Amino acid sequence: MAVATANYVRVVIDRAIHRELDYQVPETLAPLVNVGSRVRVPFRDKSALATVLAVLENSDVRGIRPLEAIVGDGPILSSELLELAKWMSAYYCCPIETVIRSLLPQVVRKAQVSWKKQLFVRPGRELGAEELDTLRKRAPRQAELAAAVSRLTEPVAAADLLRKLSLDNQTLRALAKRGLAELREEAVARDPHAEDQIVPTSNLALNLEQVAALGTIQQALDAPAEARPILLHGVTGSGKTEIYLQAIRSTLDHGRTAIVLVPEISLTPQTVERFKGRFAERSDMVAVLHSHLAEGERHDEWHKIHSGRARIVVGARSAVFAPLKDLGLIVVDEEHESTYKQEDAPRYNARDVAIVRAKMGKCVVVLGSATPSLESYFNASRGKYQLVNLTQRIDDKQMPQIRITDLRQERRKHKTAAILSEKLITAITARLEKREQTILFLNRRGFSTSLLCSECGEARECPNCSVALTFHRQVARLSCHLCGHTAAVPKKCPNCGKDALIYAGFGTEKVESTVSQLFPQAVVRRMDADSMTRKDAYRETLRAFRTGKIDILVGTQMIAKGLHFPNVTLVGIINADLGLHLPDFRAGERTFQLLTQVSGRAGRGEVMGEVFVQTYTPFSPSIQFARHHDFQGYFEQELEFRERCDFPPFKHAVLITARSNHEGRAKLTAETLVRRLKESLGSEFTVGDAMPAPLEKLQGQYRFHILLRGEAIMRLSRLLRETLDKLPFPEDVMVAVDVDPYQLL
Ligand code: ADP
Ligand code: ZN
Repeated sequence: MAVATANYVRVVIDRAIHRELDYQVPETLAPLVNVGSRVRVPFRDKSALATVLAVLENSDVRGIRPLEAIVGDGPILSSELLELAKWMSAYYCCPIETVIRSLLPQVVRKAQVSWKKQLFVRPGRELGAEELDTLRKRAPRQAELAAAVSRLTEPVAAADLLRKLSLDNQTLRALAKRGLAELREEAVARDPHAEDQIVPTSNLALNLEQVAALGTIQQALDAPAEARPILLHGVTGSGKTEIYLQAIRSTLDHGRTAIVLVPEISLTPQTVERFKGRFAERSDMVAVLHSHLAEGERHDEWHKIHSGRARIVVGARSAVFAPLKDLGLIVVDEEHESTYKQEDAPRYNARDVAIVRAKMGKCVVVLGSATPSLESYFNASRGKYQLVNLTQRIDDKQMPQIRITDLRQERRKHKTAAILSEKLITAITARLEKREQTILFLNRRGFSTSLLCSECGEARECPNCSVALTFHRQVARLSCHLCGHTAAVPKKCPNCGKDALIYAGFGTEKVESTVSQLFPQAVVRRMDADSMTRKDAYRETLRAFRTGKIDILVGTQMIAKGLHFPNVTLVGIINADLGLHLPDFRAGERTFQLLTQVSGRAGRGEVMGEVFVQTYTPFSPSIQFARHHDFQGYFEQELEFRERCDFPPFKHAVLITARSNHEGRAKLTAETLVRRLKESLGSEFTVGDAMPAPLEKLQGQYRFHILLRGEAIMRLSRLLRETLDKLPFPEDVMVAVDVDPYQLL
């Protein structure tokens, strides 16, 4: 391959200036610089870090300045990942520097953290008997250490050795000076999972459906260039993970590497152990990337991957950018999950990026889910993806029986809204008697969801956001779930001064306390963002639940996904309507998915599971189809609705948000933008009106939405960027573009 002489480089600096810049390469650096290298360059009157996009022989920029230094050794960003970054920039209508910021973890970009260095000792020159004798008299501690060192057969960590002998560093240094010990600093990895107990496992014998599914993936691995993305639609507990594990084994056998994406929330120790256990032949075979790593750990995991030692990466969203070479397989587990969508720039969906990366790198991509997204299932039904089904649970375990409880009837009977219906209470009682476990699910934190005045009707609202404050009893404060603002609980209504405040609505905290009162003999635990603030709380609670120390687990979506507890035979969904009435075209789809996923936690052991779904809208399609485990039926009716309304998967949507502390300026900007877009986009695309966002005020800012729709998304993105670049926005108005949005609030 002819390589351009590195006279000049074209770079993007880490700051979003929406421009590429050229620099001259000093002769000494020329052999070291490459596409994907990280460099330090002069920018205005400072230095900036930058990424090399291209190496040039010539540049016609005048007054060009030389670059200052190369950061780290070797190219950090492979040309393959750089291609992906360019695609993302074009597709998501987002500056490439912002994309690169997401692609490379900060510790890698800034190269400030390095490997943890540890001092190792090995024997030095041989120690004669006479010399040892003299040493014993003159420096007995050195003699003791010298004897120990001379017996070493391999280098050991100095700290460990000294600790064992209760000797200090000074003694070791003195010994080294005499040449009797050799010291060397070596890099060691910080292993966030060092304490995990990894039990090696091997491939299970697959059932017939699994054999067929694995076969399809293996065929694709044999001819990846022709392979279509594979959608693995398998009911909860059908053994999808086992298929991933065996597909990864085949990938390694092909001499290639693999990425497994899982939603952050299900990146539990249980999941990590399954992967580490299957590939236990080498301790650094599997790298794990997620958002709770310490900086040092992230540095080590990333370089373990970059250097080729780790061949499998298990991680959340951003692991799709893992710098593996010879990538052969990407698995996206629970591909429908909204956590794959990043909610700030670049607003990418890791599942879609995975498909593009796979296409560019000629590797196989497997999307797995019990409740595929409408988009993916649509692609499969049109033959764009290859569909593989797993219809049975392992060992023919029955799908749980789902019962719907009509809360309207309960209310008529008891005149008040109960938290637990009579039937659910009876069911829990029966489980407690049989020593089986129960999960109660409610997707809302806190004790009471609002504090109302029964005289004037005012609710306590967040001063920064247009939502009611939630009462948290444990800390006895009101809190905003959007911006974190907290306030004391007033004694009287601040609006009318009357002593008439009432608590309304309920969250997990209240469910927990109600359940504890109803079943004083049971051990009840709550699992949500409030109760899981301590680092190990999550892991400990899960362990306690698994070992049967907890009878009833109450929680938010934290407990909805991926957990496998054979002794759970009852799941209660306290209020299935919570997400159903949001002003979002995916509200129904999300409810269907959530009900199916939560139900999937029941009956994974020997006893058949039972699920109670409490709802005020028992006949809503999402609830009825979920009840009958009828994905196909759900898919067809939902697709019809989407087609009628021109929503995805029929058209792409782009959501533009203009926000500002000044309501008028946000509105004006949005309206101006709509006018310009209508001129520049043409009839191929639909431009909605500027509307106040459903969540009008967030963190003190007023928000206006514009929804665009169209088929040719790349063109739409480009035209949109051009229009935005030409418009002078007021400085205090922020305009955000979200391509294929998930959050319409
Ligand atoms: P899913 O990912 O579809 O929810 P899992 O892969 O977690 O399902 O499988 C559910 C359970 O069944 C796990 O405990 C798994 O070890 C077990 N399992 C999977 N495949 C097999 C098999 N072929 N034979 C026996 N047990 C299996
Ligand atoms: Zn708020």
